[in-house]
Amino acid sequence: MARIGFIGLGIMGSPMAVNLVRAGHQVTGFSRRRSSADPLVEAGGTAAATLAEAVADAEVVVTMLPDSPDVEQVFRDVLAAGPPARLFVDFSTIRPETSRAVAEAGGAAGMGVLDAPVSGGQAGAIAGTLSIMCGGTEADFVAAAPLFEAVGKTYALVGPHGAGQVVKAANQLVVGGTYALVAEAIVLMERSGVDARAGLDMLAGGLAASRILELKRATMLAREFTPGFRIDLHHKDMGIAIAAARDAGVALPMTGLVAQLIAAARAEGHGTLDHSALLKVVEALNGPA
Ligand code: NAD
Repeated sequence: MARIGFIGLGIMGSPMAVNLVRAGHQVTGFSRRRSSADPLVEAGGTAAATLAEAVADAEVVVTMLPDSPDVEQVFRDVLAAGPPARLFVDFSTIRPETSRAVAEAGGAAGMGVLDAPVSGGQAGAIAGTLSIMCGGTEADFVAAAPLFEAVGKTYALVGPHGAGQVVKAANQLVVGGTYALVAEAIVLMERSGVDARAGLDMLAGGLAASRILELKRATMLAREFTPGFRIDLHHKDMGIAIAAARDAGVALPMTGLVAQLIAAARAEGHGTLDHSALLKVVEALNGPA
């Protein structure tokens, strides 16, 4: 069992920190909003007043932050706080090259670094059933396995530093594309005068079945777009996917289209809604019903 300093107790980080406590780890959490640590404290963890306090005695530093600049900033603060922990596990979804740069700087300071972005959403974070795609060394992956066990169900080392982020980018383009097509299916059925609820039940029972249809069809039909996963974050992830494609020298036309639809959702003022609000973009494209 490890002493863990956990930075970033948001929609995902908060339940993950709680699950680490439940698995027997000693967790000290820090987030910019003090109240974000309430669930962690209720579960038996500790709230730190500063980042330095959270990581002072930690064997493992864990981050779950919005974007690449946040991870870069927190990583600098962690190194400045004192002797480094043995391991730095970053669960955030960020650019592969940022993960590689952090790993290089961590290595120079004697700290192992893993990029470990997750999939499974808020529901998976609460249930402790996330899928975790890990980039780094085998030794660090083995050392971090008890943490992955506490927050995830499926986890694997997928390659060297940054590889976890590339797999996550692939995940996000599939998720975004699936939402866009489910939204189009809903608009087609509704505007054809067909019962979309019954129709989506058929889709969910056939080859078109997906976790998104399973978990989100009812809320999409009800136009409930409470996040979940915000459009703003998915917009960030599509930028990562497009940059990764450019790095790899590959053309991903569907990814480009989905990125533009998500950009439109944001431009229309839906950035803080759940990414299933792509339905609003498809509806807007088609004018009033
Ligand atoms: P969030 O905005 O709810 O949480 C981020 C937390 O980090 C906030 O509490 C914020 O205050 C804190 N934070 C930001 N900068 C900080 C700093 N410098 N020091 C301390 N705390 C800081 O976001 P989230 O939905 O939990 O997502 C976090 C990451 O997980 C993102 O990279 C996202 O893409 C990824 N992700 C999210 C989901 C999801 O369904 N929400 C699913 C998979 C992956």
